[in-house]
Amino acid sequence: MTTDNQLRIAILPGDGIGPEIMSVTVEVLARLDRRFALGLNFETHEVGLAALAKAGNTLPDAVIEACRKADGFVLGPVGHHDYPPRDKGGRNPSGDLRIALDLYANIRPSRSYDGLPHYGRTPMDLVIARENTEGFYADRNMHLGSGEFMPTPDLALSVRKISAVASRRIAEVAFRLAKRRRKKVTAVHKVNVLKLGEGLFLREVRAVAKQNPEVAYDEQLVDSMAAMLVRDAARYDVLVTTNMYGDILSDEAAELSGSLGLAASINAGEAHCMAQAQHGSAPDIAGEDLANPASLVLSAAMLLGWLGERHGKQSFLEAQAAIESAIARLVADPATRTRDLGGTLGTHAFGAALCERLG
Ligand code: ATP
Repeated sequence: MTTDNQLRIAILPGDGIGPEIMSVTVEVLARLDRRFALGLNFETHEVGLAALAKAGNTLPDAVIEACRKADGFVLGPVGHHDYPPRDKGGRNPSGDLRIALDLYANIRPSRSYDGLPHYGRTPMDLVIARENTEGFYADRNMHLGSGEFMPTPDLALSVRKISAVASRRIAEVAFRLAKRRRKKVTAVHKVNVLKLGEGLFLREVRAVAKQNPEVAYDEQLVDSMAAMLVRDAARYDVLVTTNMYGDILSDEAAELSGSLGLAASINAGEAHCMAQAQHGSAPDIAGEDLANPASLVLSAAMLLGWLGERHGKQSFLEAQAAIESAIARLVADPATRTRDLGGTLGTHAFGAALCERLG
């Protein structure tokens, strides 16, 4: 921590709708800081296209160092598909921060809300624990170079990396989460096709399952998991899976639960935690006051929860619960919903309604 009872929170607004939903998020955090005397100190750093224009890089090294020194940070969505190549200053802030700070656990909850339509056949309240540092991600599975390459103009090869250590630690996170929830873990895999990589992943998850007999454990193929999320998501509690399956399934789960605009996440390691909405920078609605800020606000709430556990501070856990229940009440009422939920409130009007609820 910075000094006694003071915590540094780095704010990285990002691209597209990032600045709009970040301003609501900071307003909410500041309000909770006052109400619960959290001792938060905010510092803003530019990343993405704003940083490229000023510093020549979408993720300046100084920003990585600021995040390393902070107690926690909030990254707004980034539109890295629009960045120039890496050697021209285009770094993916999301992927590079995950690697630089070893944020190996991407925790992505999806829950439906009373009174709000959901699109799966059952309500849901599940969490996806997604491995974040290897897998099928070309930018993070090599020490040097890219995990994708083209031996000829008409042939592309992509390498996927699965290690015992990364599989083991995401499994441990999943079982820890499950113990605080409904005590069930489902490993999602494709071992019938990728016998070695998926086999290694399952070997490690099964070993952790053996050490946690009080948690029910089962396994599901990723393709049937995609169908089961639509058919009967209610039966799942914690899903643990590799990087790309987790990315895809979590977007599906979030949309089925109500909206991608409610989809929160944290990326956590042993020493650092980054709050980050599950969705991208939504350039189609950027700057129009249409985005739902709940995804990023709920991500910041998860960061407060992580900080509360790390520093043994009950007030942070209370602040997290206050945000979650205020948002549940707002989305239950058609008059206080944003457009993505069929309502009429803009980004800032929703933020104002939320702040009013938070007192
Ligand atoms: P990117 O290029 O950054 O990945 P994208 O538009 O391809 O952006 P998302 O940003 O994930 O992908 O958006 C997918 C769809 O969901 C878009 O139609 C977008 O407008 C919508 N969307 C995403 N986030 C929100 C939000 N917070 N509120 C409302 N709609 C959202």
